[in-house]
Amino acid sequence: MFSVAIDGPSGAGKSSVSKAVCNAVGFRHIDTGAMYRALGYAAVKSGVDVSDEAEVQAMLDKLDVNVKFDDEGQKVFVNGEDVTGKIRTEQISAMASDISKLPCVRAFLLGLQRKTAEEYNVIMDGRDIGTVVLPDAQLKIYLTASVEKRAERRYQELLAKNENVEYNKVLENAIIRDKQDMERKTAPLRPADDAVIVDTTDMSFDESVKMITKLIKERM
Ligand code: C5P
Repeated sequence: MFSVAIDGPSGAGKSSVSKAVCNAVGFRHIDTGAMYRALGYAAVKSGVDVSDEAEVQAMLDKLDVNVKFDDEGQKVFVNGEDVTGKIRTEQISAMASDISKLPCVRAFLLGLQRKTAEEYNVIMDGRDIGTVVLPDAQLKIYLTASVEKRAERRYQELLAKNENVEYNKVLENAIIRDKQDMERKTAPLRPADDAVIVDTTDMSFDESVKMITKLIKERM
């Protein structure tokens, strides 16, 4: 199987670019951020204190997290509930970033992530795919953009969904999440040594899709 790992900070466009590239090359898109978000959702719902690893572990012991794929892409389930449409809020973003620091949480999701890459050609996106989850991926990409540009994209996305937010707040959240994701001890966000760095600050969506599609075709 051919695996592509795409890592990078939030708002770099990993998910939307990965989806479009998957359509172009016929691969399956696996969004690992959605799995962390699902755990963030479960933690909010059950009122778990995410700074207490024992409490989180107790939650994980009772939790079944699964993914399914259909024509619309990946769907995430928590104890049988489809949470796909409920995990894209700022509250769940922050919770996912908090909970993803815990080694027990990363260990919990690792098996599920590797299993989904076994039977299909995939593009898997996240923070530690090239460094930890799929270290043997045939192509590793580190997709990034300036934090201001990423916050602007996220802000436009939230506006389109009629969420009442301020740009400065979105920017502040992006800076906090970057810092948390890059400075955590377990599986911090960083480019794999053999990753191709793609900076999309001044690239259009179509240009990013074309560039990555070309990189995949060259490696195949
Ligand atoms: O990619 P997305 O923004 O949906 O990810 C939500 C959060 O999940 C990130 O801020 C990050 O803390 C965490 N995450 C991670 N490792 C991954 C994917 C996401 O730690 N492979």
